[in-house]
Amino acid sequence: MASLDTASLIARVPVEALVSSASPLDEAPRLRAAIGLRPSLLVKRDDALAFGFGGNKVRKAGYLVAQARAAGADTLITCGGVQSNHARVTAAAAAVAGMGCLIVANGEPPPRPTANALLDVLLGAEIRYVARREDREPAMDEAARELTARGRRPFVVPLGASTPRGALGLVAAVGELLDQLGGRPAPDVIVHASSSGGTQAGLIAGCHLHALATRVVGISADEPAGILTRRIVDLLAGIAAELGLPRDRFDGQAVHVDDTFVGEGYGLPTDASREAAHLAARREALFVDHTYTAKALAGLIAYARAGRFDAARTVLFWHTGGQVGLFA
Ligand SMILES: *Cc1c(COP(=O)(O)O)cnc(C)c1O
Repeated sequence: MASLDTASLIARVPVEALVSSASPLDEAPRLRAAIGLRPSLLVKRDDALAFGFGGNKVRKAGYLVAQARAAGADTLITCGGVQSNHARVTAAAAAVAGMGCLIVANGEPPPRPTANALLDVLLGAEIRYVARREDREPAMDEAARELTARGRRPFVVPLGASTPRGALGLVAAVGELLDQLGGRPAPDVIVHASSSGGTQAGLIAGCHLHALATRVVGISADEPAGILTRRIVDLLAGIAAELGLPRDRFDGQAVHVDDTFVGEGYGLPTDASREAAHLAARREALFVDHTYTAKALAGLIAYARAGRFDAARTVLFWHTGGQVGLFA
């Protein structure tokens, strides 16, 4: 009855429903054959979550909007790169919640906004540009002070919405996956792109609460494995607290982060991510981006070729989105 318990624990936390249906769960037999994978290959299509062009950030946004509402907020403030998927989803969530949205973006203001930056404008978000990553937090604090002085009630959504509350969206997603699987066995391994840690922490917690032996492997988009692992461990303690469980509930859960697919850096393609993007598109009509999902898929392909999945029956690629970035 672990599943029911998990569902009722999460059901106590307020969430704004942004999507009315589960993301698809697809088989990827042609990609599987192309990479010589022995186990079956499933893809959890969060790229096709039916809200604001989708992606994993949709799962977190529902919880953060509800939290902001409960705090009496009327404006969401968040940050990211100019092409942040998280900022776009936050702007979309604010729009349907009837809230304002202010985005602090690090990078050059684009002469003509494209992709996520274009959607931010269409969604009505105010965008402030700062030069460097480390300028983002002070700029968000300043914006919050400014809005407060004008009588508004801002709520700051931290980078990637990777708070324990936001990560609950991914805890719930494990239940969604199990419902879709029906009686079929859970995947032995889940591979996904990892960056601010909320997705991985939520999936690990969700698998544990559902008593699954599933190994969750996060392929880092930028951070060194040690730093990301520590963040995930902290988030796991926070997730336990959000669910009313002892903070040490997830202690001892293995955290697998692989930072060897980053290449030259965040957002820069590698030979392996190019191959992954071509294979995904040409075999399955799936689109992956070079910041996150193509590198994660490159990791899955490398593991498959190295025989690291040979003992598994089912491998699942959790597609976290990012396709909008292809139009940047
Ligand atoms: C943000 C993002 C990730 C990483 O998720 P985290 O919860 O920040 O680790 C992966 N893929 C895509 C497409 C993203 O936008």
